[in-house]
Amino acid sequence: MSTSNCTRCGKPRIIIDTYEEKIETSTVTYTITECSDPECQKQVNKTLEQEETKRKFIKKEQEKREELRKQAIEDKKKRKLKED
Ligand SMILES: [Zn+2]
Repeated sequence: MSTSNCTRCGKPRIIIDTYEEKIETSTVTYTITECSDPECQKQVNKTLEQEETKRKFIKKEQEKREELRKQAIEDKKKRKLKED
């Protein structure tokens, strides 16, 4: 099994955990790796956190828009019912 290098600093990544997941008939092994440089990993985690925050914000905005869209459709329906 080959280990990859850190995309940030190029140092080899170390496997900190592995777990198996059964998907239908086959078992897939997942490996969780971390940079061998703890300082670099800290930065990676920070970036991941920032991305997660950004993702959550975008998702919330999308949900809001979707809610407004649904509301608009409902309003249209209601108006149509009144007209008929
Ligand atoms: Zn690194």
